[in-house]
Amino acid sequence: MYTSAAEIDELEAMRKNIRESVATLELCWSCQRVSHCDIAMVDDAAPVWLCRDCQDKLLSQEHLGACLWPSPWEVTAGGN
Ligand SMILES: [Zn+2]
Repeated sequence: MYTSAAEIDELEAMRKNIRESVATLELCWSCQRVSHCDIAMVDDAAPVWLCRDCQDKLLSQEHLGACLWPSPWEVTAGGN
């Protein structure tokens, strides 16, 4: 069985892609699924990681709303 140098390069590129993909997996802060998440700043709160679905949901909303779990920040937010 012969494996050409090009095939080896291809396999290594594939492995590298898989590793990079796995490295970008995060637990979505909103829906709690492991997915490709991007960091998102929510108001003045700490940055959170959100999957594409949740980011789309957030973008379609004026404000955070029911997408995210209740946070302690929201409880005290109205005070000022
Ligand atoms: Zn999500």
